[in-house]
Amino acid sequence: MRLLLLSLVIAASAQTGPATLHDAFNAQQTYEYNARVASFGERWPGKPGHAKTEAFIKEILKKDGAVIEGDDFTATTPQGPVPVHNIIGKFSVNGDPNQPIFILAGHYDTLRKPGFIGANDGGSSTAILLGFADALAKKKTKMQIWLLFTDLEEGTFVDNDGLYGSRHLAQKLKANGTVPRIRGFFLLDMIGDKDLGVARETQSSRKLQDVISRAAMQLGYSRYFFQYEMAITDDHVEFLNVGIPAVDVVDAEFGRMGPQYDGMGEFHHANTDTMDKVSKNSLDIVGRTILLTVELLDS
Ligand SMILES: [Zn+2]
Repeated sequence: MRLLLLSLVIAASAQTGPATLHDAFNAQQTYEYNARVASFGERWPGKPGHAKTEAFIKEILKKDGAVIEGDDFTATTPQGPVPVHNIIGKFSVNGDPNQPIFILAGHYDTLRKPGFIGANDGGSSTAILLGFADALAKKKTKMQIWLLFTDLEEGTFVDNDGLYGSRHLAQKLKANGTVPRIRGFFLLDMIGDKDLGVARETQSSRKLQDVISRAAMQLGYSRYFFQYEMAITDDHVEFLNVGIPAVDVVDAEFGRMGPQYDGMGEFHHANTDTMDKVSKNSLDIVGRTILLTVELLDS
């Protein structure tokens, strides 16, 4: 009888889908996406791993029924022209030209450094957005959700350049009048870190950070969010610059900290940024918290 009841419950949930967006997030699948993307190796523009990542992102977005849009251009960099391919997957598009939009973003390129795999830096952001795509395929929202995979965030490793893809798209949204429809923007970066601690990034929208805090508290995850402050130059800055409220959801302490390490920790921009530093649990905590935040904002 108990077995029969269980199978009835499973049948019912299969028919109606998950009750909430954040419960639709699958951390195991997201971790597998992360491992797959990291296995493509170096992923800066022009590398085979970059093209493989692009194809993989489009494959999952297509499977999940997203409206896929590209934002392609040639960036002028200190190392010459570089082709840049931002990818946008749009969900819950309802045909209303004034439908509010919320953007969840992350970069899929890696630092231009031989042997750098970027399992966390580049890999985790790509994977969590793909996990969001799977969840959004199961649960509709009132807002239109854009999953934005930015390219050439890392720049060309000279003159401390970067943010090419995000700058281009933010300027385009400003020029074509889309900015007023955009309720907010969350950037996910380096959130797979086993020792999870999301920074309170000081340029970010405090109002939106407060909603993330509410969601984290509701899920019992408060200790992983906003326990230290840091100002970080990241893709969100380009969206703040055109008037979009934005938050950088970033774990800015990757491994041991100290003067002998990079300012964001021992594994940051180091060839030791590999899958053994990434945890399924961290992806789960951030994934569920961000999707619950979207639900709280979706009224
Ligand atoms: Zn980086």
